[in-house]
Amino acid sequence: MMPSFSTILLKRLIAFSRFSLSSTVIVAIVKNSPTSPAAVPQGSKVWQKRDLKSNASCALYSYFDSFYTCPMQMVLMGTGTSHGIPVIGCSCKVCTSRDKKDKRYRCSAYITSEENTALRTDIVIDTGPEFRIQALKYTIRRLDAVLLTHSHADHLHGLDDLRIFSFVKPKECAADKQALADRANACPGAGQGDMSCAGQVANPYFKADMKPLPIYANSNTIADVKNRFDYVFHEVKQGGGKPQLDMCDCAQFTPEAPLVINTLQILPVPLLHGTLHDSGWLISEVESDGKKHSFAYLTDCSNVPDDSIKLILEHAGILDQLVIDGLRVKPHSTHFSFDEALACAEKLGAKHTWLTHICHDKCHRDIQKYVNSQLHLYPVLESIVAQGGTVGPAWDGLTLKPDKVR
Ligand SMILES: [Zn+2]
Ligand SMILES: [Zn+2]
Ligand SMILES: [Zn+2]
Repeated sequence: MMPSFSTILLKRLIAFSRFSLSSTVIVAIVKNSPTSPAAVPQGSKVWQKRDLKSNASCALYSYFDSFYTCPMQMVLMGTGTSHGIPVIGCSCKVCTSRDKKDKRYRCSAYITSEENTALRTDIVIDTGPEFRIQALKYTIRRLDAVLLTHSHADHLHGLDDLRIFSFVKPKECAADKQALADRANACPGAGQGDMSCAGQVANPYFKADMKPLPIYANSNTIADVKNRFDYVFHEVKQGGGKPQLDMCDCAQFTPEAPLVINTLQILPVPLLHGTLHDSGWLISEVESDGKKHSFAYLTDCSNVPDDSIKLILEHAGILDQLVIDGLRVKPHSTHFSFDEALACAEKLGAKHTWLTHICHDKCHRDIQKYVNSQLHLYPVLESIVAQGGTVGPAWDGLTLKPDKVR
C-alpha cells in the first residue's frame, strides 16, 4: 500500500531532524492530506517556516519545490564598523551592553534566492575577518559568487576561508540521495548535480569539472586582492589548500547587460569612500507579483554620486530595502554620518532603510531614538515611516525580504 503523504512527511522530519536539533520547523498539518506532493494545489496552505539554520526545513522545501518558490532575501551577517563591537579593550556603555543588537561583526551580507529549487542562489557580499564565524552561524553551505565592495581589511581579510567553497567536496549522505531522487521525479531534467546537503543542489564547482569561485569587484579592488593574497594567484608547491578564485571586473555590467546569477540581476553601484572608488550593489529579482523588486547595499561610502542615485532610481523597480553606511552622529572623512545617510536615503525613498557600519558611539536603542528625532528633516522618509516603512539602525542577523510579494 502506498504510504500517505502525512506518513512520508513524518518520516522526512525524523530522518532530517538529526541534522539540526535546534531547527525551527513549523508544519501545518494538512486536512485531507493528498497522497503525493503533485496533488497539492498551487497556493495551498501546506507550508513551513524556514529558519536559515535549519537543514531539516531545507529538506522539506525540496519536497514541495515543484509548487513553492522562495523570493530573494538578504541576511546582514555583520553591521559594525572596522573595529566591530565590542571594540577590543573598550569598556564603554555600548561595548559592555547586554543588548544583542549592540554586538556587531564586521559588515557582510548573505543573499539567497529560490532556496528550494534547482535555481537556488547563494551570494555573499564581502568576506571580512569574521567570515568563517558568519558562514557557520548563518549556515552557508555553498556559494555561487562573492561580491566585494572594496579591499579594506574589515571587508576582505576572511577571503582565504572561501577555499571551502571552491576546493572541498562536502560529504553526501543517504538523505541527500533520497532528496535528489525526489527532485528528479518531481522535475525531470533537474537535480543533475550531486547533493551537498539535504534539499540543496550542490555547488557545481564541487563537480569533477571544478571551476573557480567568481569574485566580482572593481578594478582597484581586484588589484589589491591580487597583491594582498598573491599566493592565491601563483603556483605553489603541493600541500595545503588555497581558494580557487576567478576575479571578474564588475565594470563590464550595465543596466543593459547586468550580472545575472540564476533568478537575480545584479548591478555594481559606484560609490566614493573618501577618495577611494568602491562598489555598492543593487540586487534585483522579479517576484511572484510579476514586479521587479530590489535591495541596494551601499557601504562603505561618504558620497553616492548623482549617477549612482539615478542608476538605482531608474533600475531598481520597487526598492524594498536600502542598507546604507551610517557610522555615527559626528561627520567622518570616509563614511556617512547618520544624517548624511538619511539625506541620501531621502533621495532613494526605499520602503525600508537600514544604517550599517555602525561604531560604538551610541547603543542600538539610542541610534533609533536619534534617527526618530531627525526624521522631520526628511519628509520622504517621514512619510514612508508613517505608511509602515522603516528607517533605523540594522543589527547582526537582520533578515531583509521583498515587501509583501505574495
Ligand atoms: Zn568598512
Ligand atoms: Zn566601546
Ligand atoms: Zn572601507
